[in-house]
Amino acid sequence: MDRRIRVRFAPSPTGPLHIGGVRTALYNYLFAKKHGGDFILRIEDTDRTRFVEGAEEYIIESFKWLGIKFDEGVGIGGRYEPYRQSERTMYKDYALQLIDKGWAYYAFDTPEELDNLRKEYETLKKNFQYDCNTRDNLRNSITMSAEEVDERLKNGEPYVIRFKFPKNADIHLTDLIRGEVKMNSSLLDDKVLFKSDGLPTYHLANVVDDYLMDISHVIRGEEWLPSCPLHVSLYRAFGWEERMPQFAHLPLLLKPEGNGKLSKRDGDRLGFPVFPLLWRDKKTGEISSGYRESGYLPQAVVNMLALLGWNPGTEQELFSMNELIDVFSLERISKHGAKFDLVKAKWFNHQYFQQLSNEEIATDYLEILKQKGINSTMEYTKEVVSLVKERCDFLSDMWGNSYYFYQSPENYDEKVVKKRWKDNMTEVMSQILEQMQNIAIANEGNNTAFAHSTEEFLLNYIGENQLNMGQVMNCVRLALVGEGKGVNLADIMRLIGSKTTLSRIERSITVLENEV
Ligand code: GLU
Repeated sequence: MDRRIRVRFAPSPTGPLHIGGVRTALYNYLFAKKHGGDFILRIEDTDRTRFVEGAEEYIIESFKWLGIKFDEGVGIGGRYEPYRQSERTMYKDYALQLIDKGWAYYAFDTPEELDNLRKEYETLKKNFQYDCNTRDNLRNSITMSAEEVDERLKNGEPYVIRFKFPKNADIHLTDLIRGEVKMNSSLLDDKVLFKSDGLPTYHLANVVDDYLMDISHVIRGEEWLPSCPLHVSLYRAFGWEERMPQFAHLPLLLKPEGNGKLSKRDGDRLGFPVFPLLWRDKKTGEISSGYRESGYLPQAVVNMLALLGWNPGTEQELFSMNELIDVFSLERISKHGAKFDLVKAKWFNHQYFQQLSNEEIATDYLEILKQKGINSTMEYTKEVVSLVKERCDFLSDMWGNSYYFYQSPENYDEKVVKKRWKDNMTEVMSQILEQMQNIAIANEGNNTAFAHSTEEFLLNYIGENQLNMGQVMNCVRLALVGEGKGVNLADIMRLIGSKTTLSRIERSITVLENEV
């Protein structure tokens, strides 16, 4: 098939974009780029009751952050403008075309009438559906004379236009992921195509636009599979079957444990974002966390999402966007839902965090330090970064792993004190301090030499006095860091320098000698 590949991401601006929607867009993008095709952003905003202000801007900003670029669409333009459905005015003509062809009809039933019917059915433990079995008893252009219909339309009576599914016809479709799907038309309800507010429903607008925009493949979430028989029927009713796109319905993103669709509540409960960017609900003030604000790198989010439901068929896990474009294929999308994995998400971020240069990390870290009232230099912080970054998954992990390079301990971890600072440790530390003062004088102005000589001295001193290596080293560490953690002692001493090293040891002796 030499049809040009054209795919679209068609979100409805009803709130922040769920991370599953981001994955759908990513797969569309990868597919388009792999085949040298076009990727389009269409905003499906014809349901004005669900419209949320700011959602469209949020969607556009999310993809900008993620590095997923559209070729055409809202905010970009293109030959099929406008790409915002509320600005497109052709839908009614198409709905009328279907009425002319006998594939649709006017329905005048009021919402109250339908509601009453629903209730009546409920009392009989049945489900009311507007379909081929019920429509012959309802108030529509099938049951009314042409004159009556004209009269009602002339009087401005509210109406909707419904699709007219034939009785007992099998609707077949081939889904690129699911395979053959078959549905009997008698089970389907006559969906509203055009609403009484003068706007099309999702189904009509979506199909008309996919046709007019020459979309070759519809790649979207599995939740739309039940609507697909209607969409296929619409293509047939319009006589557009030859230009009908191929369908690929993506499996759901599942909760980390158990089954079920990944929801915002799972994110809140388990502490991970389900939205790309932070979202503030204007009405309730409620805040939903975003990957960006939680410190995730866009490359990590893209890489993680790519592998949630698709696999490359190899062991490779790290992929740049270009590599993904290279290896992506619809055939390798799983039929089964993919479980979200928080540990893996962090792992991906860790990998991409390591790929940043020390300078990049230091630039951002200096900002964080400034907010804490700490003024440091690029040179110093770059060194700190080089020592601790492998311990970090996120920029926000930097402080917890490196605060001791910027401030002297105020308190000493009680557990470590109890375990290590005992016996004659105060005396040992005092002797060590004395020797270190000599080493500092001998290496005046050269912190590297000071650190090395001190390390050497410590090892000799411990050996000569037959002391417990772990105990002594941890007391020195306690003095310098305040806890039993941190990078190599020589590196700490080298960076903080001899003066700070000595004053920290001195203070630890003053504070801790009274504790034991
Ligand atoms: N507007 C629909 C949505 O919000 C688009 C579904 C489709 O891609 O057809 O998901």
